Amino acid sequence: MTKINKRKAPTAHLAPDITETRKFRRQRTISSWIWRFIVHALHRDFSLQVDEIDLLNQDRPNAVGCEITNVCNADCSFCVYGKKGGDERKKSKLDMEVLRHTLKLADQTGDMHFTLSPILGEVSADKRWLDMVKEIRSHSNIKTLSCYTNAILLDRFGSEDILTSGITSMTISTALGSKDQYERLYGVEKYETVVENILDLLRTNVALGKPVNLEIQLRIDKPFSNFLDSDLYGEILKYLPAEKIYILDDAWENSKGLLNIENLPTGHKFRAPHVTRDQPCSVMFRKLEVLMDGTIQACACRVEPELWLGNIKDHDTIESAWHSPQYEKLRNDWFDGKMPKCCETCTHYMPANDLVKKYQPAPVMKKIGRKLARLSGLQ
Ligand code: SF4
Ligand code: SF4
Repeated sequence: MTKINKRKAPTAHLAPDITETRKFRRQRTISSWIWRFIVHALHRDFSLQVDEIDLLNQDRPNAVGCEITNVCNADCSFCVYGKKGGDERKKSKLDMEVLRHTLKLADQTGDMHFTLSPILGEVSADKRWLDMVKEIRSHSNIKTLSCYTNAILLDRFGSEDILTSGITSMTISTALGSKDQYERLYGVEKYETVVENILDLLRTNVALGKPVNLEIQLRIDKPFSNFLDSDLYGEILKYLPAEKIYILDDAWENSKGLLNIENLPTGHKFRAPHVTRDQPCSVMFRKLEVLMDGTIQACACRVEPELWLGNIKDHDTIESAWHSPQYEKLRNDWFDGKMPKCCETCTHYMPANDLVKKYQPAPVMKKIGRKLARLSGLQ
């Protein structure tokens, strides 16, 4: 067997040689080398993962994330927050020792994206939010930092302080268009505050030269024209292009089967679950997720005790945590047809190779064709 990325002799904390533990590692053929080179050259990025081989053979995650809190200030109808079985842990906040240890390891790994978001909760519910952001970005190898927010408490921190804290991308999840709709879907009487917070954040971001890549993800009733024809949408478009505003459309997750169709915005359906699950879930190849107490969870989308794989404090490197015997067993077992019970019916499941499908020959050629047509004036 070819030895790739062979490590030093393992200590108690270091993962064993991954060529032994990753049964699913793939060998590269000459044609796949050539295609990889073409995609890298087209994207001018020679670190891009372009195919399943890159994905399955990677020796480190693309991102590391810490769960900041499991407290939320909303009560969304479409979310399992507060519902029995959604998250049985006590309400808590990120342990600073866990954050600092994770940061040290992430920083020594080299160029890294960091996420500071809850799984079920709200980032701004923790008063230490921006102090943590500053501390994270003081590590020179943590190049980018993203957060997710419902925007209810942004005024407590102030738009300028948020935008200059070191966050590089932030997604706002909300319902815009009417007070009634907001209160029904988000469960709190905060519509005016949220609208003002969002507009202030967008305006300030433009005034500061767009330091943060902002996006809005809308959870709204159908027909969407109620919002798209509104003055508010027109106002938002002055500061944010339409392609940064997404509407979740019939792609709702029924987390742990705890929701009903009546919990969704009007006219929506749940996402149809994937029928075949022969590839492990993409989240197990993308990000190392660390919970508030340091528990490593092989999923960043739900709270699933079945996917808890030891504690980050027991590791000396990110690679050790990423390739721990428990984590590799989980991935290997999946390829052998044994997936965790909680993943069997999960509607959030996405096959790992979906992460790279846009770099396969057909979509790449289509993209090149569209570009050429545009250049020659045919489109
Ligand atoms: S804001 Fe997020 S975590 Fe909080 S209830 Fe709504 S969807 Fe759930
Ligand atoms: S299938 Fe669902 S529960 Fe399992 S890892 Fe993926 S998102 Fe998480």
